[in-house]
Amino acid sequence: MTVLVSLFYLLFSICVVYPPTEFVSAGFTIAQLFEGFLGSENINFIGYHMKRTTITALIHSALPLGYVFTLLCSGERNPWLPAAAAATAIIPLLMCYRLLCWWENGQAKHPVVKSLLAYVTPGSDWRVVAANLNIEFRNVDKVSIQLNTTSRFVATENWLIKLSPYKLNVVKQGDCTLVATATDSHNLTASGEDEVQYVNIEAIPTRDDVERFTFRISTVALRDLQPRLSQPVRVPDHISLLPTLIERFVNVFKHYVEQNPVYYIDQEPELCIGCMQYPADVKLNRRCAAPPPHLEGGPPQCQQCNCRVLWCCSCMGRWWAARATGPPAGWLAGRASCPVCRAAFCLLDVCPARAPPAS
Ligand SMILES: [Zn+2]
Ligand SMILES: [Zn+2]
Ligand SMILES: [Zn+2]
Repeated sequence: MTVLVSLFYLLFSICVVYPPTEFVSAGFTIAQLFEGFLGSENINFIGYHMKRTTITALIHSALPLGYVFTLLCSGERNPWLPAAAAATAIIPLLMCYRLLCWWENGQAKHPVVKSLLAYVTPGSDWRVVAANLNIEFRNVDKVSIQLNTTSRFVATENWLIKLSPYKLNVVKQGDCTLVATATDSHNLTASGEDEVQYVNIEAIPTRDDVERFTFRISTVALRDLQPRLSQPVRVPDHISLLPTLIERFVNVFKHYVEQNPVYYIDQEPELCIGCMQYPADVKLNRRCAAPPPHLEGGPPQCQQCNCRVLWCCSCMGRWWAARATGPPAGWLAGRASCPVCRAAFCLLDVCPARAPPAS
């Protein structure tokens, strides 16, 4: 019985400290259970996390005491139990004392406040920095990445924040370098199409009074994060980031398009209307033959697109991939429709477009 209760309590404790996704979706996490007390993260970001870290530390410190009580309630009678109860009761009591220290004297010893102190200008208060952070966190253009069920990484216009159970790491974007330190890849399918790569990123502040921290995100999340950063994540030469499925598809797509006959245009190519970065260099020109009469009535035929040369090959590849259905291995064999006139086309019909060679 004792073993069973102990195992159950161990499992319960693990779920409290590292809640599995099922617990999170069921609303069984400290942050969700104490929602009413914590208030709104969006309105008072710093205040919310000051309360959240406090309550998390208190609950975690009470877990050993809870174990002794669970044993008592399960009918366990051991002469050592009262002593164990007294000993384990000391932990939350000490924690209470520590938490009181966090909150007294203007909360200056609170770990959340400590992380802001480096940015307090002389003569002002940490609350000024907190108010600034609160305002930025409310902005819709922040990027928030869940690292695991207990920690999160948030990038706002000027700040990078890592939220973990007991503390916050806060650093200004301007005085911090993000460096990729390691990667690891995981194959979700045997074919390797769904390979997921994770990158460990270290945030190295240029100031000595700000703590450095690391976080681990997927390459896909990194791509979402990049536009929000004032300086890109530095990737050393020995680390290679996997291209995403779409990027790999676009490379293969380009390779096949290059094998189609060139379509000569009589003026200089315009900029691609998709990315506005590269010259438009593909023309949809129907080349595939209609199927023999006895096969008619199958999938819709390709049509001639009369649009000008408007797109670059990468944008056309991305457009194709975005509309492709079924497993990625079959994408190239499918059909897409011209983004402008909706004429159906197949891979054979995508011709590289160039100005005629100067003669
Ligand atoms: Zn483009
Ligand atoms: Zn068209
Ligand atoms: Zn075709």
